[in-house]
Amino acid sequence: MDSTWGRNRGPKRITPADDRANRADDAIADIHLTSHCRTTVPFYFRLNDWSESLRRVAAPILSCVPSRSTDSASPRESHLALDIRVKSRLFAAALSVLPIQAGAANLLAEKAWNHGSADCANANNPAIEILEVDAASYILRQDKCVHVEAPFIYVLFGETSVFVQDTGATADPGRFPLYDTVQALIARRGGKQPRILVTHSHNHGDHTAADAQFRGKPGVTLIEPNAAAMRAYFGFSDWPAGQALIDLGGRTLTVIPTPGHQDDGIAIYDAQTDWLLTGDSLYPGRLTIKNWNEYRSSIARLAQFASANPISAVLGTHIEMSRTGQLYPPGSRFQPDEANLALTGEDLSILNASLQAAGTKPKEIVLARAVVAPIGATQRVLGGILKSLGVR
Ligand SMILES: [Zn+2]
Ligand SMILES: [Zn+2]
Repeated sequence: MDSTWGRNRGPKRITPADDRANRADDAIADIHLTSHCRTTVPFYFRLNDWSESLRRVAAPILSCVPSRSTDSASPRESHLALDIRVKSRLFAAALSVLPIQAGAANLLAEKAWNHGSADCANANNPAIEILEVDAASYILRQDKCVHVEAPFIYVLFGETSVFVQDTGATADPGRFPLYDTVQALIARRGGKQPRILVTHSHNHGDHTAADAQFRGKPGVTLIEPNAAAMRAYFGFSDWPAGQALIDLGGRTLTVIPTPGHQDDGIAIYDAQTDWLLTGDSLYPGRLTIKNWNEYRSSIARLAQFASANPISAVLGTHIEMSRTGQLYPPGSRFQPDEANLALTGEDLSILNASLQAAGTKPKEIVLARAVVAPIGATQRVLGGILKSLGVR
């Protein structure tokens, strides 16, 4: 097909206020596709049914293409028409403006991460595994044979800045070249060198170890991993009340305080992917809770936020359980059949309801996709010692 297809403008940048209003009727973007026959089609994405959205936009475009037809009254046939045309420029154009949630959800749902080895001495997985969810959104995982915590790291590009959440569990750039990896992603993306903003989901050593790789480098803003630096940077004057925004240039992140697992925890919401990054506050595994009531409040705060904003995935920073909900033994360097990293808004809602039902007295809560484990005074002391040693 030799038609030329294009957008007469890119995805409309949506402010949080617009976003909420638009999402009231499930529309999250109005994009116009212009075909060679000058048909301009408003393109409204639906959050939970992108194929239906695609059908609605594709039908009038297809109808102006000679020798092609589509029955816009039949979703099935229209969908087939799109499938047939999967290699056409039309579909490429349509794909390029698909809501990120569609592709991201599939990638995240299907992704099986490297999960360590029974023989780390002879394993040769890369120190950092990279998942390119889209050209501007990456999830990295430190290999379990490099460090048993195997934390996840998030790298999100805006037009002027790239956001890096956490720096992993190993300081040595020879064993864990995180800074170089981020620079490689920047180079891969091309264009003007963005500023690099490094923040932490919280200030445990398995999320801050490679800070020194970034500290003092040109174009890098590193929020030092302590309460004073973090609160001052984001302007939290009444911690843990309030929220802050991070402007990456055309991409805005919302910062939500989440103390409980650790005093300086924050969650990040990305309105471009609809990801809620929850750090160690929620992931598929054993959630150790230092301050029970702060944690309950934090999860309630997140659940409230999630009820008012679309959530495509709840993404934490570890995997510690199998797909069948079995926790791996602490210190496991080999985790076959891992649970999926991506949790859902429903998982968050279930956690919140369980915590509220549990009341103010700490108790273990076993859920299908996470286990809440309040830590006692002895463990807190031990944790403090490990932290001072940079272990945890
Ligand atoms: Zn932690
Ligand atoms: Zn951690």
